[in-house]
Amino acid sequence: MTAPPAELHLEGVGKTYGRHRALVSVTATFSPGRINTILGPNGAGKSTLLGILATLVRPTTGSIRWGDKPLGPTAAARAAVGYVGHDPGLYGDLGALDNLNLFAGLYGCDVDPQALLAQVGLSHVEPLAPVRTYSRGMQQRLALARALLHQPAILLFDEPSAALDPTGAAWLSAQLAAQRGAGRIVVVVTHDLDAVAPLTDHLTILRRGRLAHHAPVQTALTGTDLRRIYTETTGAST
Ligand code: ADP
Ligand code: MG
Repeated sequence: MTAPPAELHLEGVGKTYGRHRALVSVTATFSPGRINTILGPNGAGKSTLLGILATLVRPTTGSIRWGDKPLGPTAAARAAVGYVGHDPGLYGDLGALDNLNLFAGLYGCDVDPQALLAQVGLSHVEPLAPVRTYSRGMQQRLALARALLHQPAILLFDEPSAALDPTGAAWLSAQLAAQRGAGRIVVVVTHDLDAVAPLTDHLTILRRGRLAHHAPVQTALTGTDLRRIYTETTGAST
């Protein structure tokens, strides 16, 4: 079943670890059919924010709605979200098909693993070879297949290009555009400003846990534009 288009809205979302305020009162909206880019220096709270959207991290304050429904650690909310984190999140001793079948079982959904592998350009892999023997780029492709298998309406990427070579990075850009075209809410945390600039429909910049910029992009950005906005907003160089 395809979910109706709905915005993801955060109201006053904060996260405190002990006495450290990782995220402070973030009010933000992310829309379907858009690539929502999140930038910010190390430690700004980007992964914390994405973890909260993935319902993996529980916010200390505030609330999140997806359309008219709360987004929290429930099975229904988790079914709406696909997450590709720093770590591919795969079972290294299992092959590609076994990984996909395992996650399909966890999500309780019927999938065609071969079609998914083809979608991420992995139809040629030896299906029984343990995933730990894959290159990082291949693992990242499989991580995306895993994130897509339950057809999530919200797709979250945390520095997905960090370990990719230029071919992998170009492939990732095409995937982000395809997922936007499929009407998903695409949220991407990245430091690869040149790659993400022309794809960005909506830009968020975090600084010390606070929202320093949160606005739609009117005309396509270049890497130079994005670096300028980033530097002006954060005071940090790129
Ligand atoms: P970013 O992804 O922007 O680099 P993070 O969201 O990972 O930032 O971290 C924001 C801040 O919260 C950092 O100061 C980090 O050390 C702290 N932090 C993140 N996760 C935890 C955790 N599980 N326990 C304690 N502190 C954390
Ligand atoms: Mg991070």
